[in-house]
Amino acid sequence: MAPVPHTEAKLSPDLAHPRDKISLLRRDIAACTHCAAHLQAGPRPVVQFSATSRILIVGQAPGSRVHASGVPFDDASGDRLRDWLGIGKEVFYDASRIALMPMGFCYPGKGGSGDLPPRRECAPLWHRRVLDALPADRLTLLVGSYAQAAYLPRRPRRSMTEAVADFAAFGPNVFPLPHPSWRVVLWMRQNPWFEATLLPALRRAVHARLR
Ligand code: SF4
Repeated sequence: MAPVPHTEAKLSPDLAHPRDKISLLRRDIAACTHCAAHLQAGPRPVVQFSATSRILIVGQAPGSRVHASGVPFDDASGDRLRDWLGIGKEVFYDASRIALMPMGFCYPGKGGSGDLPPRRECAPLWHRRVLDALPADRLTLLVGSYAQAAYLPRRPRRSMTEAVADFAAFGPNVFPLPHPSWRVVLWMRQNPWFEATLLPALRRAVHARLR
């Protein structure tokens, strides 16, 4: 995967124990106000990870409901995503198994036609540090076009549908997925191979990492 560019954030001092490092990283993210001036509802980073999360879900950005609850994918999109993965909430919200790292950690606010895109500052500021905290043998799910633009090879250029259809080209440890919002229902009808071919392979890969 091609990592997003990295920028420096002020971090707590380095400590010897990995568990302490994770706690400090979580605390630093929770205190982040880097792009607060551009966030309509103010900062509230929503992210989940641990040193043993062997499944990483790179999403888009929290919506207003998730901003209010602080619980990622706490909506119909999350129900659909969990159905795709073949897991329930007890596994999905278990940070020892699943990491949830959106392209923008805070709700960006409303635009003219739905939510604004994830803040561009966020991934370069935090992603490298979260990725460094995760197991190297993880399975990565790139949910939606923003995550795919950041982490899939830029050449050849692919639309979201082309990237998802070509999932086998990215190896057994990376799955590009469409965003599981209500809009995907029609897309799934138009692309029946997604349920017939990709979802069974995805569920096998997920359950292998959960064993
Ligand atoms: S979106 Fe990211 S960079 Fe901006 S305040 Fe939230 S955590 Fe910080």
